Amino acid sequence: MIKHNMTAWINGKIVHEFTLNIIVEPVEFSTGFDTYKPDPAWSYTDPAGHYHATSTEPGHPWPTLDVVRDEHIDPDDNESWVVESHVCSICRVPVEPAMILDKPAKPYVEFVPGRKSWEITVRMINGSAGSISIGDIVSFRALAEGHEVFGLAHVVMIKHSGMSAILEMNLVGVGSLGTRDL
Ligand SMILES: [Zn+2]
Repeated sequence: MIKHNMTAWINGKIVHEFTLNIIVEPVEFSTGFDTYKPDPAWSYTDPAGHYHATSTEPGHPWPTLDVVRDEHIDPDDNESWVVESHVCSICRVPVEPAMILDKPAKPYVEFVPGRKSWEITVRMINGSAGSISIGDIVSFRALAEGHEVFGLAHVVMIKHSGMSAILEMNLVGVGSLGTRDL
């Protein structure tokens, strides 16, 4: 909620008083897959007597193996994908290094800040609002301490408060609220 020390305009007309309410909608976030890493305990001697093991050297877990990339093509929809496997760098025999669980799929759902929506209530001098009616899309702009927010808003309610010259308007932001430093 932002209210103090700001000047705001609706369609270029200054407003008497306003409240801007920014609502951050939570977005569900979860990791659906387990991820794996090379098993540091793995070692293997292939039929030709070549020794293979997991190295702790970053980025090069298997210095004695070559990566073989096989491209598969689905003849039905022409979709292709690559399957990587390993062979001994000397005798080319297939070797399957052991992997262990790195990060398990998150069994819970985490909430992260997502899309922001915003609404404004403005009070302006009756007459200065011009011909704004319910359903209109108007331009909104507000300034405060070297900072500007702006955007398009949908007029959802206009209320004349009794005998007063003040008119109250409720607006809902259309799309995102622009922001910039001045
Ligand atoms: Zn070998």
